[in-house]
Amino acid sequence: MQATICLKLLGVRGTVPVHGEQFRQFGGATSSAFLRAGDEAFILDAGTGLLTQPVGSFFPGRHHFTMLLSHAHVDHLMGLPMFSPLFDSEGRCDVYLKTRSGFSAQQQVEQLIAPPLWPIRTDAFRGEMRFHDVPPSFTVGGVQVDTMDSIHPGGSTIYKISCEGKSVVYATDFEPADDNPEAFCQFAKGCSLLLLDAQYTDEEYPRVKGFGHSTISRSIAIARRCGAERTLLVHHDPNRTDSQLLEFERAVREIDAGISFGRAGEEICL
Ligand SMILES: [Zn+2]
Ligand SMILES: [Zn+2]
Repeated sequence: MQATICLKLLGVRGTVPVHGEQFRQFGGATSSAFLRAGDEAFILDAGTGLLTQPVGSFFPGRHHFTMLLSHAHVDHLMGLPMFSPLFDSEGRCDVYLKTRSGFSAQQQVEQLIAPPLWPIRTDAFRGEMRFHDVPPSFTVGGVQVDTMDSIHPGGSTIYKISCEGKSVVYATDFEPADDNPEAFCQFAKGCSLLLLDAQYTDEEYPRVKGFGHSTISRSIAIARRCGAERTLLVHHDPNRTDSQLLEFERAVREIDAGISFGRAGEEICL
């Protein structure tokens, strides 16, 4: 039987892509994931991870995609100018990005995809790109999408994708004020799968407070409070090596076997 929702992590690194032997297991590409829900094809964020897997390998024969962007920080957008369906005359991509500081979705994307930062503008793509502001809730085919504002410099959007009783909450670039962010826990309550920012350690946090990211210990507490059935911690700090992440993961697993650190290439079906 086909799963209701399937997610494939493509990039789980925060801030900037990294390369090298010490990042091989978790991956060095920045935020992106493929997600199939019902009959719909979603892309969560468009970091460099978006370019690490052929889109047809997860969405065979598919030309129409819904791209849910958390925000326009460059680590979440760097893969977009080379997303292959944009070069396909049959390709269509509905891009959701919340209007921020008076800039529409299209204006924000065109800060990156336009000279002098990029050689072409979005109107040069053969595929169709349609831009949307992010409403509190909307549907794509039979799939429900709910959103809430994250706490992050310049803003970011948290998405919940629900289909036939299963739900995935995507909460990256999120700096909760404490271990019990009530509005978020209400939003994510009992979700099937939670992707949650966990960039920093408790030791690092005092130096980076206000940068817009959570800590590993805080995110573990929040995931348990929300009652997420399964949690993947994401947006790993660019300095975080595989051996550190494996060590943290061993400790986390002793507290809660449903929580792990996301790995690029990992696939979860619900
Ligand atoms: Zn980020
Ligand atoms: Zn950000």
